Amino acid sequence: MRSFVHVRVYGVPLWGWLAAAVLYAGVAGVAIELAWQRSVSAIATVGSYRLDLYAASLKSELGRYEMVPGIVARQDSVHALLRARTDAQPAFLHAVDTYLAAVNREAGSLAVYLIEPHGTVIAASNWDQPLSFVGTNVSYRPYFKDALAHGSGRFFGIGTNTGVPGLYYASAVREADGSIGAAAVKISVDALESAWRVPAEAAMVVDANGVIVISTVPAWKFTALRPITPERQTQIQASRQYAGRAVEPLLYRRLGDWGTAGWFAQFPDWTHPGRYRRFLAMSKPAPQAGDSIVVLLDVAPARHQQYLALAFVTGLFLIAGLYGLYATQHRRAIAEKLNAQDALRRANERLEVTVQQRTAELTSANARMRQEIAERINAEQSLRDSQQELVHAGKLAVLGQMAAGLTHELNQPLVAIRTLSDNARTFFERNQPASAIANLERISRLVDGMALLTGELKTFARRPGIERVPVSLNEAVAHAVLIYESRIRDEQVQLDMHVAVGTMVYAEPSQLQQVIVNLLGNALDAVATEGRRTIAIDAHDGDEHGRVMFTISDSGTGIAPEVLAHLFEPFVTTKPRGRGLGLGLAITSRLVEGFGGRISAENVPGGGARFRIDFVAATAQGTANGR
Ligand code: ADP
Repeated sequence: MRSFVHVRVYGVPLWGWLAAAVLYAGVAGVAIELAWQRSVSAIATVGSYRLDLYAASLKSELGRYEMVPGIVARQDSVHALLRARTDAQPAFLHAVDTYLAAVNREAGSLAVYLIEPHGTVIAASNWDQPLSFVGTNVSYRPYFKDALAHGSGRFFGIGTNTGVPGLYYASAVREADGSIGAAAVKISVDALESAWRVPAEAAMVVDANGVIVISTVPAWKFTALRPITPERQTQIQASRQYAGRAVEPLLYRRLGDWGTAGWFAQFPDWTHPGRYRRFLAMSKPAPQAGDSIVVLLDVAPARHQQYLALAFVTGLFLIAGLYGLYATQHRRAIAEKLNAQDALRRANERLEVTVQQRTAELTSANARMRQEIAERINAEQSLRDSQQELVHAGKLAVLGQMAAGLTHELNQPLVAIRTLSDNARTFFERNQPASAIANLERISRLVDGMALLTGELKTFARRPGIERVPVSLNEAVAHAVLIYESRIRDEQVQLDMHVAVGTMVYAEPSQLQQVIVNLLGNALDAVATEGRRTIAIDAHDGDEHGRVMFTISDSGTGIAPEVLAHLFEPFVTTKPRGRGLGLGLAITSRLVEGFGGRISAENVPGGGARFRIDFVAATAQGTANGR
């Protein structure tokens, strides 16, 4: 039950729908009833107007004939004729007939005639017509009886001769000793009926018997609106009021009353034979005593009003319902939106917290990184410093070697120059200038050789340029060989050189020399203790385009296995203290890298070591082929 109660359709709980349905049913019911009441009362108003109108027209249309028999009854000729009866002269009868015809014409009635006390018509306005009333006996007709008994009579009936329905008025022709006959007039109600005819309405006059005598629906004429008792039926038959026909009841169904003003009933629909239609019936006594006027008013407009009211209420409910649904959906959408916004806000807050945490982490990571960077920069700086120192130290070492070489190289010429200058002085003292000059010339040549050596030293000592330029590799090799010339000669080293003239590489000239001096020095050291001492220097085009492959191989001891893995690291040496610092190759590799080259070392299978340098080639004109 709980879950049933909580069922929602379009966001509205079930009880809401039920309440709306009940409300709709209630309002629709009230609206339909109100519409019915209002329209029926409007129809009833029309009905009472009609009744008044018909009563007035009955009074004016029929009432004016009421006098006609009375006037006729006062005529002397009429009295004379009735007194004379059958003894009357034909000329006198003719005069009365003519008078009656004149009255009939003037009044506009159907017929005006005189009846003798036994009920036989003795003179008539239609005396000369085929259906003349003259000779007809009307003694059974109530209007005649009433006229004789009470002075006047009135009667709706169908003519026994003519079969034409009409209203009869009769008036007694009185003398001092009593009634000697009656004068009568018959009136047609056709004009009245056609005047009253209104579409979808019926109007009729019902006589004292309850028989319809005037009707806008011709078929209903002389049918009974009220049930007729058998005795009455016999009386009617006797009076031949309705030409002797048995009066049939009009078949209709009474449905209910509309207050005291009228009643609802289903009458045969005269426009659609066989069908019935609902009417509001209203009646009013006719001006003639005993008769009543009945109008039947169509209630279809009231039905339409009900449909309209229902449609209006339904429309109203639909609009209200749609608006309600829209409002509910809108409210729901707003609630969802608010929820979503709330969720978004919470997510945002969470995100903010996360972002703050992450930011804090990042900030500290950043700080750490900055610190690390600072440390790295410091480390790099100290590395650079130590590398600088290494380069310097390496240079010093080479200088030391060179100094030893120079001392050796310069000592000999210096000793020779001393001897030659001493001898030259002696020759001058002995006045042998030619010999003295020869000595001086030899001194001069020796000094030239010394100048050559010191020149090399200057080149080497020059501060290296930062820029790489095309440098002649063969010239650099030649200079290095020159530096070690005395050693090569003294130690009887066989030097094989295959470096083509004009081989150009990208380098810094003094650094390139230092590189080759280092490698050649190491090779000389390696072969020093060997029986066969050869060093091969070679340069050819590299495997890669725009490269020059330089190799220096020796027949020496080969690189010690423990050294091979750390060859290019500083202070790695196998040489005795004072001879090697272990800086040469470290500096060399760094310089080569600075040229954009690559250095590697290996032991050759036949014994000895081979160093390779892969240089960037340059043309003699100074345009780079490589980088
Ligand atoms: P140092 O010459 O001062 O020892 P280097 O860096 O020039 O420093 O050389 C490091 C070591 O590499 C040498 O001590 C030597 O053991 C080895 N080495 C270098 N060149 C050769 C070579 N051509 N043959 C054999 N061993 C070599």
